[in-house]
Amino acid sequence: MTTLVDAHIHLTDEQFAGLLQPAMNMLRSLDIKAVSVSMDMTSATKNMELASSYVDVVIPFAGIHPWSANENTEDFTDFVSKNSDKIAGIGEIGLDRKYVSDNEDGYSRQKNMFEHMLVLAERFSKPTSIHSRGSVDDVLDMLQSYKLKGNLLHWFAGSKKQLQRATDMGCYVSYGPVLVYSEDKRSLLRDTPRELVLVETDGPVRYARCFEDRVALPSFLPSVVFVLAKTLGIDYSNACDILIQNSRRYLNRAL
Ligand SMILES: [Zn+2]
Repeated sequence: MTTLVDAHIHLTDEQFAGLLQPAMNMLRSLDIKAVSVSMDMTSATKNMELASSYVDVVIPFAGIHPWSANENTEDFTDFVSKNSDKIAGIGEIGLDRKYVSDNEDGYSRQKNMFEHMLVLAERFSKPTSIHSRGSVDDVLDMLQSYKLKGNLLHWFAGSKKQLQRATDMGCYVSYGPVLVYSEDKRSLLRDTPRELVLVETDGPVRYARCFEDRVALPSFLPSVVFVLAKTLGIDYSNACDILIQNSRRYLNRAL
């Protein structure tokens, strides 16, 4: 039985190279499943291979990240078409205003790429995992044009007003290790409808203010859930139940 789902992690990142087997062992021993997202065509391909080797714990997403907005979309569309039965969702996709700063060309390239990704998610009825740094309103504006099943704004870093807008649209919002030390994040969590909350590590991101700045592993997740349960004033096991139900609904699959 699955106890928790790490809704957003990059298991094919180079920083996991020597840590992959221990990470898989952790997932198995903690009954955690991991949604492994991709950044581009190369990592999407690796992700599918990884998921076929660890089918019991890895849920593979394929997507092109806004930092890779120059990738070839035709090749990627072919790839998704050929593997649509195995791809569990489209991600990591989205917009990153800070990454392109005041470069409008770069931002419009990101928007084009994000549109391509949303078309794929709609066409194949897949959930999405969305990066929205500095661009929550633009992401939400664009989402309105598509009929999509489950959208996750991962590592939500918007305002309370944007949170309200996102959750009114039915978007899921995930919280990660930052919750352990940030009162701002806990305050956002308190305002998030419970049926739209998910948890994530975003490994291999390192968190300078907790977990000794190490590469984030799935084993960090129970600590995040512990803080989440305390923040919401509920039992740990109750929190796990809510999170699993939400994960199932978001992913539209049995876990
Ligand atoms: Zn990520």
